[in-house]
Amino acid sequence: MKNDMTFFTSKEFEDKFRYNGDDLGVLCTKTKTVFKVWSPFAERIELCLYKTGTSKEWQRKEMQPEEKGVWKQEYPESLHGMYYDFLVWSQGKAVRTADPYAIGCSCNGDRSMVVDLKLTNPPGFEEDTPPQKEKEQIIYELHIKDFSFDKESGIPEKYRGKYKAFTVFNTNGSYLTCMSYLKELGITHVHLLPFFDYGSVNESGDEKQYNWGYDPLNFNVPEGSYATDTVDGTVRIRECKEMIQAMHKNGIRVVMDVVYNHTYRHDSFLQRMVPGYYYRYMEDGSLSNGSACGNDIAAGRAMVDNYILHSVLYWAREYHIDGFRFDLMGLLTVELMNQIRRSLDKEFGIGEKIMYGEPWRADESPMEDGTIAALKENACYLDEGIGIFSDDTRDAIKGHVFYEEEPGFVNGGIGLEPLILHAVTGWKDGGSIFCPKSCAQIMNYVSAHDNFTLWDKLVLSMYKNNDFKTKYPDVLAANKLAAFIYFTSQGNLFLQAGEEFGRTKFGEGNSYCSAPEINMLQWHQTIEFADLVEYYKGLIRLRKKLPGLYDKSALAVSRIIEKDIHKDGVVSFQLDNRSDNENDRWDRLLIVYNAAKEDYMVTVPKGKWEVLADGSQTNICKAVDKEIQAKAQSGMLLGRKVE
Ligand code: CA
Repeated sequence: MKNDMTFFTSKEFEDKFRYNGDDLGVLCTKTKTVFKVWSPFAERIELCLYKTGTSKEWQRKEMQPEEKGVWKQEYPESLHGMYYDFLVWSQGKAVRTADPYAIGCSCNGDRSMVVDLKLTNPPGFEEDTPPQKEKEQIIYELHIKDFSFDKESGIPEKYRGKYKAFTVFNTNGSYLTCMSYLKELGITHVHLLPFFDYGSVNESGDEKQYNWGYDPLNFNVPEGSYATDTVDGTVRIRECKEMIQAMHKNGIRVVMDVVYNHTYRHDSFLQRMVPGYYYRYMEDGSLSNGSACGNDIAAGRAMVDNYILHSVLYWAREYHIDGFRFDLMGLLTVELMNQIRRSLDKEFGIGEKIMYGEPWRADESPMEDGTIAALKENACYLDEGIGIFSDDTRDAIKGHVFYEEEPGFVNGGIGLEPLILHAVTGWKDGGSIFCPKSCAQIMNYVSAHDNFTLWDKLVLSMYKNNDFKTKYPDVLAANKLAAFIYFTSQGNLFLQAGEEFGRTKFGEGNSYCSAPEINMLQWHQTIEFADLVEYYKGLIRLRKKLPGLYDKSALAVSRIIEKDIHKDGVVSFQLDNRSDNENDRWDRLLIVYNAAKEDYMVTVPKGKWEVLADGSQTNICKAVDKEIQAKAQSGMLLGRKVE
């Protein structure tokens, strides 16, 4: 075996071994079962079949070599429900591995499963389509277990923390929870934390286990611990599809959090199938660790990129996934990201599937020569249809994520006015280290699964204590103002589930493996923070109907005029709100952010103006005169009536 890294990207390698077929893995229909793997340096490969996920070997067959390093074996019958793995022989030694392209697997994923995918579709799944796209997309970041683990969710115990919880609509409680709540909230997309098969939770273990799931094992199989049965490998597939179908039925599109930058262990199925090929190494032969998870997948090599592209397309086709969020996208390449964008557009229509990612990495990583890392500073090379999380906006609004007491604009930060006025343009007019093609590339947010919840960050920075249960009026005001700012900034909108009801993790800043009780949505909070929930609902409603805000074109930035810093903590700007729609009520918007501790008198420009939102309400439409008081710690949105 040649283990020379430059060889892997050489023309010689490409000519000999690049395989662009879309049929690796297993294809099982009523009349045949075909196994194919790519392993160019193996001397022999044996296919081992099993009747169950744990039983002894039933049959062994030699795989036949084909062109480009592909090996094949075919049966003239359906082997649906059988399990399999491979013995990969090299230098007289065999290594056992599951299929890196597996679409089904045993409990805990070490054996692959033959699946006739047609047999896994819940009733009506062939006709399942996503809801119509709306003028604005509001993305709600959610972990499957967090959603329904709380008893207060009203979800039957056997479905709590599972895919199935999404299929229960009427939870019969005295207030809305789970799907009925989400539907009412008005968000358009649910972004689910990783739900491909991951390694950190024992699928035969108990419900006390918890992990965010950023540790992929089988990239193309749903995680088993969210299924009601982990032994029969078809159950996780069917129930995952039921979850997606249920969201579509309720008007919500589904985004999948995908982690192609590293694997749970370096000794992965990819590594066992083609040692050395799928990972980046340092010059001394050690693994690179730009992911801070022990290894980096070598995006930028032909068959690595093919693998990732194949996986994304598989989820979009087979599971009807509507969008993808790329973890540590900065470890992937601009070329790969743009290729995925083009492929999704070609197959599903331009922009139909959304794409965005983290434009950073945990550390340096030796990328392939000639490739460009999909980092923030390279946003200008990324397709306009690929979004990046805007840490600049996040930190300007609420303060740095790693320094808990450091404030942002809404919680006492000083001198941030110019940054806030850049943030509202999606950094299109400068202010950061990059220049987006348009605000379509910007994901505006103030909280996500990483770091403190917004509520906890505000308490820690404003009170410097650990009392996260007191509903401090000024923390509530800061929370509303934070939301008001990013909801009135150009770009895409993203929020962590529960941000709208003061979600707390009790000051836990990195809860990736904390108890489910720390992580879960506490549904009763929706009652205690009903005013905050209503506030968000109003912002969501407003956002969907104001063209000045939802415009994502490169020209959107020119809608913003008359930016003004009035004094410390007080800024305003106007927005051209015109569109092709003749029914628009307001042609101009005036937006004021008052983060100061005192009220501020705003002079209203000429024309007939109405207040649409202030610090306490987001569902008003009240005429104003020449002046209006912008209350301390609040936002204010006015619209000028079309005359
Ligand atoms: Ca798993």
